[in-house]
Amino acid sequence: MTVFNMMEILAKEILDRHWDHLGMPCSCATCRNDVLALLLNALPPRYVSTEKGQMFVKAAALNEQFRVDLLQELYRAARAVAARPSHPLAGENGA
Ligand SMILES: [Zn+2]
Repeated sequence: MTVFNMMEILAKEILDRHWDHLGMPCSCATCRNDVLALLLNALPPRYVSTEKGQMFVKAAALNEQFRVDLLQELYRAARAVAARPSHPLAGENGA
């Protein structure tokens, strides 16, 4: 039986979709993962079986309030990482 956190999939999806609009000072994999981790810490986990997970995703996608909340948390996480990146931003660290 595979059990996984649907919130993780939804968080990655919304991060991918909005990353370019977050205005991050650095867009390396580290900063991206930092945003994702902060976002996931702010969200309640939703552990589900595969079949239930698909239903949950469909329901969540239709729930506008849920998407608004998720987006709000995404921007909050992005601001936090932008304010305090986990690595120095000096120079062109183009990775
Ligand atoms: Zn970075």
